[in-house]
Amino acid sequence: MRPESKRWQVIVVGGGPAGSSAAWHCAQAGLEVCLLDRARFPRAKPCAEYVSPEGSRILDAMGALSTLEAGRASQLTGMVVHAPSGARIHGEFVARHGFRGFRDRGLGVRREVLDTLLLDRARAAGVVVVEEAKVEALSMHASGAVDGVSVRTPGGRAHLRAALVIGADGLRSVVARRLGLARQSRWPRRVALVTHYRGVEHMGTLGEMHVTANGYVGLAQVNDDLTNVALVVPTARARAMAGDAAGFLGAWLAAHPTLAPRFASAVRATPVRATGPFASRARRAWAPGAMLTGDAADFYDPFTGEGIYAALRGGELLAPFAAEAVRAISPRAHVSALTAYERARHATFGGKWRVERLIGMAVASPLLLNHAARVLSRDRDLADLLIGVTGDFVPPSAVLRPRTLLRFLS
Ligand SMILES: Cc1cc2nc3c(=O)[nH]c(=O)nc-3n(C[C@H](O)[C@H](O)[C@H](O)COP(=O)(O)OP(=O)(O)OC[C@H]3O[C@@H](n4cnc5c(N)ncnc54)[C@H](O)[C@@H]3O)c2cc1C
Repeated sequence: MRPESKRWQVIVVGGGPAGSSAAWHCAQAGLEVCLLDRARFPRAKPCAEYVSPEGSRILDAMGALSTLEAGRASQLTGMVVHAPSGARIHGEFVARHGFRGFRDRGLGVRREVLDTLLLDRARAAGVVVVEEAKVEALSMHASGAVDGVSVRTPGGRAHLRAALVIGADGLRSVVARRLGLARQSRWPRRVALVTHYRGVEHMGTLGEMHVTANGYVGLAQVNDDLTNVALVVPTARARAMAGDAAGFLGAWLAAHPTLAPRFASAVRATPVRATGPFASRARRAWAPGAMLTGDAADFYDPFTGEGIYAALRGGELLAPFAAEAVRAISPRAHVSALTAYERARHATFGGKWRVERLIGMAVASPLLLNHAARVLSRDRDLADLLIGVTGDFVPPSAVLRPRTLLRFLS
């Protein structure tokens, strides 16, 4: 069947975790879905490749978790953050606070593996997936509602029609930009370099963050015995890395007093990929005939490593509203479903956005982070609670309540 020969109920633009999850959940809700991605899978995606313990709940629902747990992912028990002062924040997912995630561990999994698996799960649910299909523009009905997409493929250009277009096309979403919804945040403006090394010494089951005044680097074991290395620096440093990303990353690691010896005999195993700048947040995550999810809707900073969970959860959250919008009997009912989606997003993610911003402020200021590290290195319960929030199974309200926030002032 040629995808342009019919009018789809839903077209999903983008086949990352947000797009696959949205497509899979919409298909489960009985909708006819076509997913378009400009890439051919497996494709690389610069990412620290950690999936939070609660992310496993949605991976399990989609039928992807057993494959990952059968050896295609490493297991992470918590996080350790090294502040510029040298103080350490150590938090684990299994702790005394009484909250438990769907799994007690997070996963470290290469995006080539994860994203291809999720796309296959969407296909198995009945989604028609078209790779190497780059969406270039949206088409509008006379009413002003989105009613299709213009696509470029190796075979030429095509126009596909749909009752609903879901923009899951990442940080520089063409759907968000064409709708005038994209908004770059002025802060934090950061860029990242990501690669894999083999043979980094003393890697354990904790994800690691090493923060300096010049940015931070994350290390985590992923599948295939590789260590994911993700360096994030302010955009002002981007010029210095232009042209020689590998040299820039190597010099950064070599200048770090505790990391340099651990990398002394390590060998880089994959190309160094650059991404950014972030952050961005859409003014709202819908327009008549369209919805946004995943990074296309909002992306803040990779420090807390929650984008994949937000992408998976976003697809799950969106599906009932998408079904309602597609089946609406009037434009008013259609818009009412989409505004309800916006409210649900705020109710679901609002607390996390606030915690992310507080952590982002601390990471941007060595003074603040050193203070937080001093407090958290003495208050292990508080550190576990915070790591549980970043693991998506402790409600953000548990750290945002005044009594808990006051513990940071001690
Ligand atoms: C340095 C770094 C480290 C990170 N580390 C972590 C981490 O450890 N854990 C975590 O949970 N999150 C992490 N994140 C965030 C995470 O990578 C994202 O939040 C996640 O990938 C969002 O998924 P998505 O599906 O919305 O977007 P993406 O994964 O970016 O997928 C978007 C898809 O859309 C496709 N596309 C784009 N434009 C078009 C178009 N015009 N037409 C058709 N297709 C298109 C792309 O090919 C792509 O496949 C990190 C991010 C960065 C930058």
